Amino acid sequence: MPLDSLPSVCPHDCPSACALEVERIDQNRIGRIRGAASQTYTHGVVCAKVARYAERQHHPERLTQPLRRVGDKGMGRAAFAPISWDQALDDVAERLTRAAQRYGSEAVWPYYYAGTMGLVQRDGINRLRHAMRYSREDLSICTMLADTGWLAGVGVKRGVDGREMAKADLIVIWGGNPVSTQVNVMTHVAAARRDRGAKLVVIDPYRTKSAEIADLHLAPLPGTDAALACAVMHVLFKEGYADRDYIWQHADDPAGLEAHLASRDPAWASAITGLSETAIVDFAHLYGRTKRSYIRVGYGFSRSRNGSAQLFAVTCLPTVTGAWANEGGGALYSNHGLVPLDRTLVEGLDRLDPSTRRLDQSRIGPILTGDRRDLGDGPPVTALFIQNTNPMVVAPESGLVRRGFARDDLFVCVHEQFLTETAAMADIVLPATTFLEHDDFYTGGGHTYLQLSRAILPSYAQCRSNHDVVCALADRLGARHPGFAMTPLELIDHTLRASGLPGVAEFPDDGWLDCCPPFATAHFLDGFGHADRKFHFRADWAALGHDHARLPAFPDHVAVTDDGDPAQPFRLVAAPSRSFLNTSFNNTPSSVAREGRPTALIHPTAMANLGLTEGDRVRIGNEKGSVVVHAHAFDGLQQRVVVVEGIWPNHAFEEGIGINLLTSADRGLPRGGAVFHDTSVWLRKA
Ligand code: SF4
Repeated sequence: MPLDSLPSVCPHDCPSACALEVERIDQNRIGRIRGAASQTYTHGVVCAKVARYAERQHHPERLTQPLRRVGDKGMGRAAFAPISWDQALDDVAERLTRAAQRYGSEAVWPYYYAGTMGLVQRDGINRLRHAMRYSREDLSICTMLADTGWLAGVGVKRGVDGREMAKADLIVIWGGNPVSTQVNVMTHVAAARRDRGAKLVVIDPYRTKSAEIADLHLAPLPGTDAALACAVMHVLFKEGYADRDYIWQHADDPAGLEAHLASRDPAWASAITGLSETAIVDFAHLYGRTKRSYIRVGYGFSRSRNGSAQLFAVTCLPTVTGAWANEGGGALYSNHGLVPLDRTLVEGLDRLDPSTRRLDQSRIGPILTGDRRDLGDGPPVTALFIQNTNPMVVAPESGLVRRGFARDDLFVCVHEQFLTETAAMADIVLPATTFLEHDDFYTGGGHTYLQLSRAILPSYAQCRSNHDVVCALADRLGARHPGFAMTPLELIDHTLRASGLPGVAEFPDDGWLDCCPPFATAHFLDGFGHADRKFHFRADWAALGHDHARLPAFPDHVAVTDDGDPAQPFRLVAAPSRSFLNTSFNNTPSSVAREGRPTALIHPTAMANLGLTEGDRVRIGNEKGSVVVHAHAFDGLQQRVVVVEGIWPNHAFEEGIGINLLTSADRGLPRGGAVFHDTSVWLRKA
């Protein structure tokens, strides 16, 4: 019998940021986790992996105490010996100080990402960074390409309330697979289908679980979605579906766009995307005649060198038809910009020195191996302090990442919940709390709530929160900032009040505050985010990033992808699996059992041409190396496309290194961003 059921918020790197009800079995243990029924986006639903969170929370391999490495890097738990917290923190502070004394403060790189999305526990590392003038970090590994593309057209990082999908007559899920990765989207899609007979279209290079249940699935070649979007707009203009009154009122250059699109017809797009002209025209007709059309924009098609341009092109569609103006119409990419929070205190922005060096997190491999394109005239990185991410597995060009971490002159401290493959390369490992053991607050990409979550369990073993560790290091390093002397709840309270929001004491008891703006604002009827209040068909790429020369102003296909050649004819998509979330959950028994083993989805014709049969070992490679996985015949993709879902740990692969050995650390246009789905490869029977 559960002792009680307590509210919480899912902290994982997922747009849903679900409101949770957590069964507490006793003072130290949880049972089942459910979605909060009364939070109207979560609507009582969470994904299976978080429903089974007890597996992760009470996993026998959770780190319990600080560790110092006494053996070789990468050898696992046997290479570490326990030490006290004071010893560990003293050691880390001394090594960071030594690195800064020898090479200057920019030799230290606090490295983090979104293992928790809580704003205090995730972003507090920046307060330490800025107070110490350590190297800054470009957060490029996930959202940067999509952010840039969305901002080019819409001008502000918010969209139409996700709950309005239930009021739509057509929902287009473009470049995402919410059945597997963001299940709450499907709650609202299901309502629209049930109550309104709405149609569901999924656009994705392979037949995902979401595509399986759609009315229509379009599978363009990776990196060609902008061509599809342009051809659809061509049809919309040509066949009278464009809402000219709306466009003239709300967009910058409708005539210029129409003239530009005159040559982007379905035949042109068919040759680029691999889709039939009929499929493109049929989709254009469906989209054009449905006023309440809602595009749920995913991240997938942005993970390409031309990803920002692709996403921008898709955002133009609801502007051409005027769908933004209708309830249930428009588009949503992310609402993380909906609530303008004052982040000064949490991130120590008042200590930020803009002259400090910025390093691109996706290029950690080149950076750690001394690439001067990243280091500039600055020092090498000789000390890393890592929270909330596992770059040995998730960063592109794993071969370089591994070489970098193997350097003898690199000091690494990893603060983590498990001995990840990154932690196994560290000199000092510190045990971290989970979201159930610390306080935090959260915005959500997929909804309009700001949510507050309090610890419901004591810290496991000797685990400490990210905030506690950052403050303890600040104390030893002599970093000064008021935020280091505050508790998480005090930081949250000050931040909320500074942002014009209710403080902790006034925050709704259930923990969530709906920040949905009024209809006219939510639908941009009172203006888009640009200074002229218009939607921009003419993207000002120069204002968004310095590498803009190859990006045309109007939406277009930008042929800068790694499209292969006869020696590397296949296009690899390293897509997220249902049961893992990046590398979170790839060590929980039920997730591993459900996913099986690293597997390549390969078209049956390609299988036959390669002499492969079901379950054969297949080697996938390019100039960066090769990995061996098992082949699975799958006809839900074009013959040139191969999909490996993950992210599996490196050790799950025969040769001990995973799929990101093959992906590139090249920067997407125009301001960077990881290009995980833009990889040409060869396939051979292993
Ligand atoms: S759907 Fe996303 S936010 Fe919701 S419980 Fe699962 S991982 Fe967390």
